[in-house]
Amino acid sequence: MPELPEVETVRRGLEPAMQGARFAKLEVRRGDLRWPLAKDFVRRVEGQTVTGIGRRAKYLLADLSSGDVLIMHLGMSGSFHVFREHGAKALGRYYHERKNHAAHDHVVFHMSSGAIVTFNDPRRFGSMKIVARDKLDAEPLLRGLGPEPLGNEFDAAMLARACRGKKTSLKAALLDQRVVAGLGNIYVCEALHRARLSPRRMASTIATRSGGPNERAERLLEGIKATLTAAIKDGGSSLRDHKLTDGGLGMFQHHFRVYDREGERCRTPGCDGTVKRIVQNGRSTFYCPTCQK
Ligand SMILES: [Zn+2]
Repeated sequence: MPELPEVETVRRGLEPAMQGARFAKLEVRRGDLRWPLAKDFVRRVEGQTVTGIGRRAKYLLADLSSGDVLIMHLGMSGSFHVFREHGAKALGRYYHERKNHAAHDHVVFHMSSGAIVTFNDPRRFGSMKIVARDKLDAEPLLRGLGPEPLGNEFDAAMLARACRGKKTSLKAALLDQRVVAGLGNIYVCEALHRARLSPRRMASTIATRSGGPNERAERLLEGIKATLTAAIKDGGSSLRDHKLTDGGLGMFQHHFRVYDREGERCRTPGCDGTVKRIVQNGRSTFYCPTCQK
């Protein structure tokens, strides 16, 4: 399932094709995604110009000239691909790939820029919704989300406050989208390793008795930010479905420190530990018991 770095990579891929361009035509081949597209979906999108492409947690937000916002979520297996209508340049390998998977191209945006943007989603857990920008604060999809981990306001104090008194594991706390938004299994494992904190440690132990941040909270904050920044730089991780919008692959999976590396040597300099896999809340956790305390 795509996490924040993969969604941010997609956002950066869509920006040149969509920002400042108008939706010249919209094709909805299958409207029953995670939920059915609204009856007025096509009418509210077609003809509008995209004034900006943003992201909130794992949601892509396209601002439209009408004052509406098009909210898009990749779900489990959704992906966007950008094609140039007359751009024979970029075809080739990728062109064939599109033909093979065209059965799952459920929504196709024909942009005034000449770009064709397809939304492909074999499992149809992805979703699209159109809401008025001035109602965005009340939007149920976004309302409960915690802070953006790469935002300036997200600091050790905020993280400690969210974990204060929490009797769950640090792993479970970081997966909770109300504590911090956009992290999933991969990046939580990676961030905890970078911070040298055990995923089994009780979440409350990164806060002082009065709820302030201790040194562990500082390390964890740094671990989260550094992990996400490095992953975005690599175009995210391509394990199953994630691809760049030009069909290329993210490369961060080659730099995993612990994720999917059970039995392999720990990558912390000076540590001779071995990566272990345990199951927490039904999901695999990878960590090094030697340097993560
Ligand atoms: Zn280690």
